[in-house]
Amino acid sequence: MTKKALITGLTGQDGSYLGELLLTKGYQVFGLVRRSSSSNLERINHFSGDIQILSGDLLDQSSLMDAITEAQPDEIYNLASQSYVPLSWTQPALTAEYTALGVSRLLESIRRCKPDARFYQASSSEVFGQPDESPQTERTAFRPRNPYGVAKTYAHWMTVNYRQKYNLYNCCGITYTHESPRRGTEFVFRKITHAAAQIKLGLANELKLGNLDARRDWCYAKDAVYAMWLMLQQEQPDDYIIASGETHSVRELVECAFNCVGLNWQDYVSVDPAFYRSDESVQLVGSINKIKTELGWQPQYSFEQLVEVMVDYDLKKISKNGA
Ligand code: GDP
Repeated sequence: MTKKALITGLTGQDGSYLGELLLTKGYQVFGLVRRSSSSNLERINHFSGDIQILSGDLLDQSSLMDAITEAQPDEIYNLASQSYVPLSWTQPALTAEYTALGVSRLLESIRRCKPDARFYQASSSEVFGQPDESPQTERTAFRPRNPYGVAKTYAHWMTVNYRQKYNLYNCCGITYTHESPRRGTEFVFRKITHAAAQIKLGLANELKLGNLDARRDWCYAKDAVYAMWLMLQQEQPDDYIIASGETHSVRELVECAFNCVGLNWQDYVSVDPAFYRSDESVQLVGSINKIKTELGWQPQYSFEQLVEVMVDYDLKKISKNGA
């Protein structure tokens, strides 16, 4: 029988990759899309004919109940949220409405309308904030440091509580930074691969960056969404960290990207204090022991391969469309 999946946040980076993955696996895919973002279909244009869009909003419980009743999904993936950390400081209440209470509404809707649906909640490494240990594991204490992390922490524990109280099949995946050609250039990974491609093609001649020593645990969004799907295929629901398990510095990233286009990064990159962050003492890195051992998951793409994929994409895209 054809499996059905409902994805919130379908138009985002992860939602679009997950939608593609589930279509290749033969699922009937439904996407919950806010009316206001319905013009923002760029990431899913190439497969929008194969999916069904349902209108709904995490702020409105009745719209969630309607969507679940209509789709009758076997699996529900909650990838929608207000996810921009700086905005969570200027709009903390709205962040809580979407990222925290939105999950309460969704859990209640599932409990009432489709309690046998399997549920994936997108938790974030931001729940660890200032962690006591590194690498972090599924048992590391949550110490969020911004309203987004606080909201994700609430959502995480509500998902776990609904699993315990109502015996629902609920899972939280704690994802670290994950990148792809569908990322915006405001994020440093895409900023660098895009700039390396532009410089190679003679369309730019410099790149200004902030802290070159900053380190991140980067993995490919395609690898991350595969882990999300895998988590919902198990006998028992559980929570897992989804990460690469290693960190790399911005310096290594820039070096690797410029190597891909055959240029020496030091000829083009300068450091601009405008891109420095004030609070950067913490470096998050996830332990992937649990997901590796229990589900047999690990990233298929190395750091270098991910850089290559993104530089190649940017070279092709810029060559085709111009800068
Ligand atoms: P996020 O902080 O994980 O959401 O992702 P970013 O891609 O925005 O930043 C990753 C790291 O790169 C941070 O530690 C930044 O301090 C560092 N970084 C260094 N130069 C830049 C830059 O020019 N832009 C951005 N966005 N980050 C930079």
